[in-house]
Amino acid sequence: MTPAAAPKGVAVLGSTGSIGTTALRVLDRQRARFRVAALTANSNAALLREQARLFSPAFVGMVESGGDADDAWQSGTDALIAAATRDDVDIVLNAIVGAAGLDATLAALESGKRVALANKETLVIAGDLVRAACAAGSGEVVPVDSEHSAILQCIAGRPSSEVKRVVLTASGGPFRDWSTERLGAATVADALRHPTWQMGRKITIDSATLANKALEVIEAHFLFGLSYDRIEVVVHPQSVVHSFVEFIDGSVVAQMSVPTMELPVLYALTHPERVADDGVPAFDPVKLSPMTFEPVNHERFPALHLGISAGVAGGAAPAVFNAANECAVAAFLAGKITFADIPRAISSALEKLTAMPAGTRDQLLAADSAARRHVQETFKC
Ligand code: NAD
Ligand code: MG
Repeated sequence: MTPAAAPKGVAVLGSTGSIGTTALRVLDRQRARFRVAALTANSNAALLREQARLFSPAFVGMVESGGDADDAWQSGTDALIAAATRDDVDIVLNAIVGAAGLDATLAALESGKRVALANKETLVIAGDLVRAACAAGSGEVVPVDSEHSAILQCIAGRPSSEVKRVVLTASGGPFRDWSTERLGAATVADALRHPTWQMGRKITIDSATLANKALEVIEAHFLFGLSYDRIEVVVHPQSVVHSFVEFIDGSVVAQMSVPTMELPVLYALTHPERVADDGVPAFDPVKLSPMTFEPVNHERFPALHLGISAGVAGGAAPAVFNAANECAVAAFLAGKITFADIPRAISSALEKLTAMPAGTRDQLLAADSAARRHVQETFKC
């Protein structure tokens, strides 16, 4: 009998969020394989303290130092880098929302870690830098996003020359069958009512505008090295088929499960192995029927096309798209702009700022800041 390998150390960045808490449920069941070595959060000290009590990580970081932080915790954005580069960490699960997750991903890759990446914004802002960091050392990115986990599982190690195209599925969000007129009056509460997924507020709004699917098309481009004309999107309201891969011989492979993020989180930790786990409810094709597919309505959801065009344009455009979207979503959630203003803000920032230089991290972050400033000034938010 071979002795069991020592559990791998995992840093969970963004442990108090939707993906972070999902990941800790998975890690709690998989204590023989994984050990929580580090936890970080932005500001929810009460939940972070409870998580630290349950998992006893060697490192805890909270970005916003406040009165209720523990003295032993590291504060500031440096805490994210510290957690991501520790010697006792093998896998960094990046579940931070937005551009705030970029530096931790890059630092983890430069330290040779596996990054289980939920923070798709990292790849959208700096896909070329991420690919270069992976190529330069032993670091690797394994996606947590359910569509990309599906594609990884469907491709199953075959070379990209055998892949004809991938088709990402999109639930269509809460406004799938709303008219343009009705969309104009959509409230924050309407937009937060997602039909199939329970997620953080930012990605829930992104799912309502379909900006999330644009981020995912760009994410797929960088993860799988596919040109944009080989990445398509189809609406699948039941969220059971997580994506399709069509191979050059015409065979189409899909990955399916009851919608739960526990499976892609687990797979990002264990890839390419599969391990027993009871986090996914039983698959019953009869109960899950019917499964339907429909085209995207680009007129009602312009953010998708704006994002794909930004991906095709390359350079600073994806970072501008992402930052304008983040800023507009925050303004919408704060009641400062309307739902229909979100794609308007993105379009306005892209028109103005796409040509900014984009060769380095600092240039990309300058484009990010310029896009946020542009949206704030133009929309007075
Ligand atoms: P969330 O808002 O629920 O959680 C975000 C986490 O990031 C929290 O722990 C928060 O403390 C931390 N955080 C926020 N701002 C931070 C900052 N400035 N610095 C450091 N930490 C910060 O978000 P979520 O829904 O869990 O999404 C996280 C990421 O995963 C996003 O990129 C999202 O697109 C992606 N994702 C989420 C889901 C899902 O089901 N929720 C599915 C696929 C991909
Ligand atoms: Mg997704």
